Amino acid sequence: MNTIDWSNLSFGYMKTDCNVRSYYRDGKWSEPETETSEYLTLHMAATCLHYGQEAFEGLKAFRGKDGKIRIFRMRENALRLQSSCRGIMMADVPTELFERMVLLAVEKNRRFVPPCESGASLYIRPLLIGTGAQVGVKQSKEYTFLIFVTPTGPYFKEGFKPTPMVIMREYDRAAPLGTGTIKVGGNYAASLRSGEKAHEMGYSAVLYLDAKEKKYIDECGPANFFGIRDNTYITPRSESILPSITNKSLMQLAEEIGLTVERRPIPVEELATFEEAGACGTAAVISPILRIDDLSENKSYEFSKDGKAGPVSEKLYHKLRAIQYGDEPDKYGWITVVE
Ligand SMILES: *Cc1c(COP(=O)(O)O)cnc(C)c1O
Repeated sequence: MNTIDWSNLSFGYMKTDCNVRSYYRDGKWSEPETETSEYLTLHMAATCLHYGQEAFEGLKAFRGKDGKIRIFRMRENALRLQSSCRGIMMADVPTELFERMVLLAVEKNRRFVPPCESGASLYIRPLLIGTGAQVGVKQSKEYTFLIFVTPTGPYFKEGFKPTPMVIMREYDRAAPLGTGTIKVGGNYAASLRSGEKAHEMGYSAVLYLDAKEKKYIDECGPANFFGIRDNTYITPRSESILPSITNKSLMQLAEEIGLTVERRPIPVEELATFEEAGACGTAAVISPILRIDDLSENKSYEFSKDGKAGPVSEKLYHKLRAIQYGDEPDKYGWITVVE
């Protein structure tokens, strides 16, 4: 067990000591249980399998120089999961239960929280599924809420390096009044084909436009988009994007360091005016964007001439990471220390 090579962790799944589960039956959640099996036993007619009653979350725990383990903004993830529950008619997971189970999953798997120097962290994956048997299209009466954790490597092995992204107008991820604002598996299924095509063509991600008019920027697959211009942090307001907790945090830090923050529809052409652009989410905090190719329009927008991240992205990235690892004081109350 002491053979984990922390500095060479990938993003794959690694088995840990246990996961934590609670079951919703007869209108109540059960006391959380720890479980060593990585498998679920499901009824073949469970609604998660047929009608997409599935939502998930993603957050991280970090080990600081002081050896303490810090979980970043878990309350926000609890609230967002509740919004997903309402969106696809699932039983609500109370904030208190969510937080208690996150803490339990991390405490029981402490030894998998990577050491500070590795730049790695413990990824926490809460999952909620409809488990009741239903053949007609209808929500389940029973649910399983489970949380597993897995150590993940530092996102930027070769440093904080910009990558190219692509606009593919022949694909949409989410519809304006559909499920784009909630974290459900169906949105990811809808993005797999375009994502794979983008990777084959050498792009790191797809930048989606609004599905209705194809005029405005939505988001980058599993990450929100932001641009920097004239000391302003600009990020889309849209009816089909997921409210990223990383983006919300970066907006607050941007204001703190003296930037103006604008959240509004961003026309595609405005890409030409940005000095820096990035994708943001839990996995990488910020993935700086090298260039965006709008394939069918034959246009290309470049953000980095020297292949390096811009100074504002760099500053925001380091500031957020410093809070997560406990190198900077937690003045907004974003951190929960695991005792
Ligand atoms: C999870 C997710 C994000 C990033 O959200 P964070 O809370 O910052 O991790 C962005 N877009 C989509 C579609 C997502 O599912």
